[in-house]
Amino acid sequence: MPTIEPAEQLALFIQNNPRLVILTGAGVSTDSGIPAYRDKQGNWQHSAPVQHKEFMQSHYARQRYWARSLIGWPTIRDAHPSEAHIALTKLEQLGYIQLLITQNVDRLHQKAGSQQVIDLHGRSDKVKCMECHALYDRVNIHDRSLLDNPHFKTLKASAKPDGDADLESVHFESFTVPACERCGGILKPDVVYFGDNVPKERVFNALDTIKQADGLLTVGSSLMVYSGYRFCKRANEWQKPICALTLGVTRADSILDLKLDSPVSETLTKAIDILK
Ligand SMILES: [Zn+2]
Repeated sequence: MPTIEPAEQLALFIQNNPRLVILTGAGVSTDSGIPAYRDKQGNWQHSAPVQHKEFMQSHYARQRYWARSLIGWPTIRDAHPSEAHIALTKLEQLGYIQLLITQNVDRLHQKAGSQQVIDLHGRSDKVKCMECHALYDRVNIHDRSLLDNPHFKTLKASAKPDGDADLESVHFESFTVPACERCGGILKPDVVYFGDNVPKERVFNALDTIKQADGLLTVGSSLMVYSGYRFCKRANEWQKPICALTLGVTRADSILDLKLDSPVSETLTKAIDILK
C-alpha cells in the first residue's frame, strides 16, 4: 500500500473537520526571516526574554530592552508573509477557518490577508503607556528613539544575527528610553511578556470558538508555552480532533489525533492545492 503524503493527510483532516480553529506559532514565521525565538515577543532571539516584572520595575532593564529593539524591531517591521501565512489565508477564503489564534506578535497573518485572527500574545507593532493606556505605533516610537539616541545608531554595524554578545558590553545607562507623550508614563510594547497573563477575554473568545468548531489544527508550534497548550488540552476534553503540523515534538503529542512532522509551508501549500 502506498504511504499517504503528509499533505494528503492534512487535506483529509481538513475535509473531515471543515470548521477549524487554527493555532499558530513561531514555525509559520521562520520562512519570513523571523528567528524561531524563545522570546515570545520575537524581538531578540538569543538573550533571555525580559520578564514583565523586571521591565516594569527596572529603568535599566527598559534601557537595555529599547536599545536592543533599535536593532531587533526592524526585522519584524520589514518582514513579509511566508508561504505558510499565504496558505492559511487561502484556507480561510475557502471557508475552512472559524478563527486563527496566533502566538506570534508579528502581524504577518494580517499582512497576508487573514481576517479572523486573535493575537494571543499581543502585537509588537503597537506600544502602550502603562499609566494612561495611550496606544502608539511602534514605527513612530522607534524613529523617535533613533533620534534621541544617535550614538546607538552605530550598534547596527556591530550587531550580529546570531547573538548580542557585542551588545552586552554596551553602556545602556546612556540610552534615553521613550516615554509617553501625554503623561510621561512607562511605554511597553503591547505584547504579553513572560510573567504576565494573556487578557482573559482573548482566552474566552478563543475557547468559545473551539467549543463550537469541528477540530483544532496547530501549525508551527511546539506548544511548550502553556498559554497555547491549554487550547489543545481543552479541545481534547471536548473531544475535538487535534492535528499538529510542525517539525519536531510538541507538548501535546500524547493527545493528538494526527501528527505531521513535516515542513510547514510546503505541506500547507500542497494541502490547499488538493482542497481547491
Ligand atoms: Zn501615558
